[in-house]
Amino acid sequence: MRVRAYRFRAYSSKTTAGVLKTQLEAACKLYNALLHAEQEEYEENKHTMNKTELRQLALDLRKQNPEFQVLHSQVAQQVAERFYQARKRFFEGLSNKPKKKKPYKFLSLVYPQSGWRLSNTREVGLGKNRNKRKARLYLSKIGFFTLIIHRELPEKQVSQVCVKLEPSGRIHVIFLVEEPEAKELPSKEPKRAVGVDLGITRLATLSDGSFLENPKPLERSLEGIRVLQRTLSRKRFLSNNWLKKKRRFAKQHERVKDFRRDLFFKLGALLVEEYDLLVLEDLNVQGLIQKSETKRRRLRLHDSSFSVLRAVLEWEFLKRGKTVLALPAYNSSRECFLCGGINQNLTLEDRIFHCPHCGFTLDRDLNASLVLLKRAGWVPPFQCACS
Ligand SMILES: [Zn+2]
Repeated sequence: MRVRAYRFRAYSSKTTAGVLKTQLEAACKLYNALLHAEQEEYEENKHTMNKTELRQLALDLRKQNPEFQVLHSQVAQQVAERFYQARKRFFEGLSNKPKKKKPYKFLSLVYPQSGWRLSNTREVGLGKNRNKRKARLYLSKIGFFTLIIHRELPEKQVSQVCVKLEPSGRIHVIFLVEEPEAKELPSKEPKRAVGVDLGITRLATLSDGSFLENPKPLERSLEGIRVLQRTLSRKRFLSNNWLKKKRRFAKQHERVKDFRRDLFFKLGALLVEEYDLLVLEDLNVQGLIQKSETKRRRLRLHDSSFSVLRAVLEWEFLKRGKTVLALPAYNSSRECFLCGGINQNLTLEDRIFHCPHCGFTLDRDLNASLVLLKRAGWVPPFQCACS
């Protein structure tokens, strides 16, 4: 079984949004209360509470404290579950010790099997969007939300529902669905392959010679973001004005993120239309960011979001039963496509690749994408045309 998340935009009345906020605050307090109780228990009795005990503790706290009673009982248990998972990650050495949560950062509630209901699904889309539907989601103790169901949702297999308040004020609802492992689609013998080199100047260079400039959405809106950041820093922390500005700030960032995702999906749609096999570099983006010397380069690497791009491309290809190959990135831009020699002197600034061994000269990114295609065992079409 694999778990897949279906995320939908949700709309609510102001009252419901207000209730959600109150509940998030209560859930945050409950989390901190659990953390505190657990620490005390350990200090006094050297006893580490297990999952069942934590869940029971959450229910007990809810019974004693009217403030926590606004929460659905299962939601309260899920808060305990979240704390348990955080502690487990800490024990396994994967993260830091769970800390007290801050109310303005505690932004999601989870409903397991019960406490929610989808109803009144109706079609709203026309033409290309004819699969688009609207539905009402009822969350027990919170209220009604209108969801835009833009893709098929296997409603019966939903194992848990998460409602998330984005820092910008948007609400998303995420359904977790347990699906049987995707049946291996009859993978057709790939006929057309393309190598894609990801870069900062050109976001993607294809081995067929076409390329996509990097729109650098973050860098472009940086000025506005900086102004907002400055005004934010002048407001009193957690005051109403601070929260207002914080929301504006989050909106700006959200816009950048949306633009990027949209662009990636469009690129993916174009590529999957044309090709059966996509060859990419297996980039270690975190490593690249750490290695880069200037702040500007770090920013641009971050702005290009190669990991998101790769995830989107892989998803689009997989959906159509096609393949994405990620090959080790080692030396891919220094290797000569024609003779396989290595140009050690190639720097980041060189836009043109010139091979010191055979004299082959080509655009740097194009050469890299061709090298990738060659490493995957594909002879690019233009060489066939030459011989
Ligand atoms: Zn060469």
